[in-house]
Amino acid sequence: MPAGTALVVGAGFSGAVIGRTLAEAGWSVQILDARPHVAGNCHTARDAQTGVMVHVYGPHIFHTDDVEVWEYVNRFMPFQPYRNQVKTTVRGAVFSLPINLHTINQFFGRVMRPEEARSFVAALADPSITAPQTFEEQALSLVGRDLYEAFLKGYTVKQWGMSPQELPASILKRLPVRFNYDDNYFFHRFQGMPRDGYTALVERILDHPAIELQLGTTFQRAQADNADHVFYSGPIDAWYDYEHGRLGYRTLDFERFTASGDWQGCAVMNYGDLEVPFTRITEHKHFSPWEQHDLSVLYREYSRVAGPDDIPYYPIRLAAEQSQLTRYLERAKREKHVSFVGRLGTYRYLDMDVTIREALDCARAFLAAQQPRPFPLAHRRSATGARAPL
Ligand SMILES: Cc1cc2nc3c(=O)[nH]c(=O)nc-3n(C[C@H](O)[C@H](O)[C@H](O)COP(=O)(O)OP(=O)(O)OC[C@H]3O[C@@H](n4cnc5c(N)ncnc54)[C@H](O)[C@@H]3O)c2cc1C
Repeated sequence: MPAGTALVVGAGFSGAVIGRTLAEAGWSVQILDARPHVAGNCHTARDAQTGVMVHVYGPHIFHTDDVEVWEYVNRFMPFQPYRNQVKTTVRGAVFSLPINLHTINQFFGRVMRPEEARSFVAALADPSITAPQTFEEQALSLVGRDLYEAFLKGYTVKQWGMSPQELPASILKRLPVRFNYDDNYFFHRFQGMPRDGYTALVERILDHPAIELQLGTTFQRAQADNADHVFYSGPIDAWYDYEHGRLGYRTLDFERFTASGDWQGCAVMNYGDLEVPFTRITEHKHFSPWEQHDLSVLYREYSRVAGPDDIPYYPIRLAAEQSQLTRYLERAKREKHVSFVGRLGTYRYLDMDVTIREALDCARAFLAAQQPRPFPLAHRRSATGARAPL
């Protein structure tokens, strides 16, 4: 007899990690995904024409400081070393990101050492802005107009579809500049790529006799009644039939093209100029430098507001969406039979490592709540009947 039955909606990292944790604890787990593949937005697939492993929904680099999460993913697949080094094309020249000493020296035609550059950038910052409210004010107060207009403004307008004067200062939390030549995009201790791609990794997480996976299957509310508990990693507003309106997302369009050899020399090239309609070009072969391919496949990436039939990518989370979300969360808190998880279930941007951390914590808290309680509470309902919420 299984310890209980769980229905998991979504076979991305959230659903897979929760499903695996429950299955290992003796639960019978059914996982549904509307898509024909697992791994959600992290899905990777070999491009039929070039043989290159493609990040189908946009580039994904695994990076974390969480030792347990790093060991967890490596348990299922070896990771190859990978260092994310992003470039940007602006005003007809190529610069290094995040803005670092190389970027500053190149942009201003100078040869400054770290402390000289620090003083130089400090002198560019606008001292009249003491309490920045908008993204633009924040950027001007940190780096001044020249660096802001070249490296932050155009990309932000294209990515968010609105002026940085309308975006909150909180998006740009800290000084986006390094005063050394470190061009590693991430600060985390561990960084890498799963050797055979994210989809193979998630398939291995799901490979457990107690897990039944149904792909190409959209969740219907009636299915919830067949399980002791539902873990839902779909959009929270869809669960409530958009009762408080649709939560806003940005979506992405990818324009595929191929080339021979090495087309741009790096995995990700941003385009900061407003006149260029796309935000970046990804050359997927550079995510697997241990493989050899004569041909290359690239995606030009365009960002726009998501319509009802588009894939939701980035939650917008401005004031209007925050107030809608609050209403959905009020309802979600009262649910006993369903836990809302993952980037869509909680309407947050989550990196993969945070997604896995939250999924592990969620499943473990759920299992802990199922443990029979010591006397005098031992008469309470059995594990399968308890339907404990999180
Ligand atoms: C462009 C882009 C780039 C990113 N790059 C990085 C990166 O470099 N590094 C990093 O750490 N993170 C990155 N991320 C974040 C990463 O994609 C997320 O952390 C991860 O996808 C979250 O997993 P999830 O399972 O919560 O959601 P998802 O991956 O979205 O999975 C949810 C699944 O639920 C399914 N589903 C939804 N509703 C239903 C329904 N009603 N019925 C059946 N199935 C349903 C969907 O089909 C989907 O497969 C990036 C995100 C984006 C958008």
